[in-house]
Amino acid sequence: MDTIFFNTKVYDQQFFTECNKQYNHQIRFLEVPLNEGTAPLAKGSRAICVFVNDVVNSTVLHQLAEEGIELVALRCAGFNNVDLKAAAELGIKVVRVPAYSPYAVAEHTLALILTLNRKTHRAYNRVREGNFALNGLIGFDLHGRTVGLIGLGKIGVVTARILKGFGCKVLGFDIQQDREAQEAGVEFTDLDTLYAASDIISLHCPLTPKTHHLINEESIGKMKDGVMLINTSRGAIIDTKAVIKGLKSEKISYLGLDVYEEEGDLFFEDLSNKVIKDDVFMRLLSFNNVLITGHQAFLTRDALQSIARVTLQNITDFEQGRALVNQVLP
Ligand code: NAD
Repeated sequence: MDTIFFNTKVYDQQFFTECNKQYNHQIRFLEVPLNEGTAPLAKGSRAICVFVNDVVNSTVLHQLAEEGIELVALRCAGFNNVDLKAAAELGIKVVRVPAYSPYAVAEHTLALILTLNRKTHRAYNRVREGNFALNGLIGFDLHGRTVGLIGLGKIGVVTARILKGFGCKVLGFDIQQDREAQEAGVEFTDLDTLYAASDIISLHCPLTPKTHHLINEESIGKMKDGVMLINTSRGAIIDTKAVIKGLKSEKISYLGLDVYEEEGDLFFEDLSNKVIKDDVFMRLLSFNNVLITGHQAFLTRDALQSIARVTLQNITDFEQGRALVNQVLP
């Protein structure tokens, strides 16, 4: 089926081209993101494929409908960037990749925790400059520490299992209590208890109206002094300005982010020769106990292969009129 891929990078093109040898869809790769200005480029296709920061709001969906688009295939798990109600009203189906590799994101979460704790990023630079002094590199044992996970779905559970391997006590909060999480050793609790008892708090819930700015001045106030906060989920779950305040007051001693609420203007692009105009982001970068990666938690070979396979299968299912097992409904 004719499908336009928006916002593609070299690695998308590589993994999708390889996988498409089994599916034979007519793919056109575009580098531009999807937004109101680029939506007309979808003309001539029945389907489009988009990623986390593409704009799929009501206006864009109306434009897509006019161009004859019947399917929006997300090559990601999150769908907070799509106006599902508008899509349904226009008869456009939306599919996603609900699970490609929870291990990729969970393992990246641990990479952030371990790097912030043991300061390997700073040690790497010191040793390369011939500075073998250890001052300022003191960490703590993860063994015996309490980690609070908010959201115990696929990624949260894998993260819990890894942390149990380190000898951590794992507390969990979710709107539903999953048996798999309990079997992984998660002790479910309420949010306030989780905030008060956790040395490390890691976010694994989706971005919804309920979780928007869940981490704010009030919730930070309930956390332990010196807490480590990790977000590999979606940027807007954290109120960034409140977190900066927490860093300045030293309430928060470590911050690890793979996502940022205004990342749409920054992430996935090489801006090394440009002026970054986001003062809030630049303030975050000024703290040496803040570690930011640019939404790369999903970026493993295994995950990219799985994303390509499930996305192309979703498109095939639509083309052949089969049930859309990965459809997202309003
Ligand atoms: P999932 O659907 O398996 O799990 C999400 C869990 O969050 C569910 O158990 C759900 O009940 C829970 N939840 C929903 N609302 C909640 C609330 N208000 N409070 C507490 N818990 C709540 O999803 P997943 O595959 O584990 O992914 C989790 C999130 O990770 C995704 O929504 C996505 O935003 C993010 N993600 C990020 C990357 C990345 O590269 N950084 C990659 C994949 C997914």
